[in-house]
Amino acid sequence: MNIILLGPPGAGKGTQAKKLVDERNMIQLSTGDMLREARSSGTEMGNKVAAIMDAGELVTDEIVIGLIAEKLEGDHAGGFIFDGFPRTLGQADALGKLLADKGATLDAVIEMQVDDDTLVERVVNRAKEAEAAGQPVRADDNAESMRTRLMEYYKKTSPLIGYYYAKGDLKSVDGLASIDEVGAAIKAILG
Ligand code: ADP
Repeated sequence: MNIILLGPPGAGKGTQAKKLVDERNMIQLSTGDMLREARSSGTEMGNKVAAIMDAGELVTDEIVIGLIAEKLEGDHAGGFIFDGFPRTLGQADALGKLLADKGATLDAVIEMQVDDDTLVERVVNRAKEAEAAGQPVRADDNAESMRTRLMEYYKKTSPLIGYYYAKGDLKSVDGLASIDEVGAAIKAILG
């Protein structure tokens, strides 16, 4: 089974992806995590994307499609969870082609719905908690970057809701419910 978790920054995609990895032997493909890894390894690509990420803007389709294509080379029986990808219509088309080339299909696109005030509150809290625990704070987890991230989401990513709705793949869950309740809603969709 291959699924996309779709939703604005702070919606809880990563949290639910990790639950699915534990429960269903799926592989999480988070372009955000891949890009953070690239930047911390100091590669040329990592250095190029660092400033873009910190500002809350999207890196180019070419870079993230390349990262995903590489990860899809191997097969995995449990399937893939796409977390934070696709984020543009161009990426969605590319993913469709990559899966078709493998003879694979997309089984569901789960949209996690959370209002903007809650999203800002969540990422600002995430930064405060990391700081209190002496862990590194994500440079884009602040109210200012968050405004740009939300703007990017509504402009470039939210059109994917219509794109996948039209294909009959879209399912929505209430991202304001508890982590376990959201997990149960996703489980009910996936069967
Ligand atoms: P969040 O969903 O909380 O915004 P992510 O960890 O998924 O955070 O991504 C962090 C940043 O990495 C994004 O703001 C963007 O700059 C970059 N990024 C991640 N995935 C993509 C993507 N598919 N396309 C373009 N940029 C991306």
